[in-house]
Amino acid sequence: TRLLRSEEGKEPPKTPGGDTIFGKIIRKEIKADVVYEDDLCLAFRDVSPQAPTHILMIPKNPVDRLANLTPQHKDIMGHLMVKASEVAKKENLDGGYRLVINDGKDGCQSVYHLHIHIIGGRKLSWPPG
Ligand code: C5P
Repeated sequence: TRLLRSEEGKEPPKTPGGDTIFGKIIRKEIKADVVYEDDLCLAFRDVSPQAPTHILMIPKNPVDRLANLTPQHKDIMGHLMVKASEVAKKENLDGGYRLVINDGKDGCQSVYHLHIHIIGGRKLSWPPG
């Protein structure tokens, strides 16, 4: 089946690390339903939820995509994972949930500010499309 337009992956930007809609959310120029925030990261509800719980966990220092991580990102990526797990606990996703990072056009990435999807609250299927 054809993907909805909003689900289509986009080509990576010509200027990696360039500002995105998520930068505006971090700077509070656009409102978001924030569920967790600290100096390093922000978690907010996805505007187009794919499950009863659908939260995005993002680093405040933008990294455009998984493909461009370097060893210097080890600490922040570890922090994002640990905090995602705490958010899932707070959302009572005791039966399980899924963390997803889409990378690049083929991975269906549409916003080039790396983000972890926290998806749960229903029985998920596998494999993904
Ligand atoms: O992994 P991908 O890049 O496709 O995910 C981007 C996500 O950001 C989508 O799930 C989309 O619904 C969400 N989004 C959002 N608020 C915006 C723009 C996009 O929650 N203003």
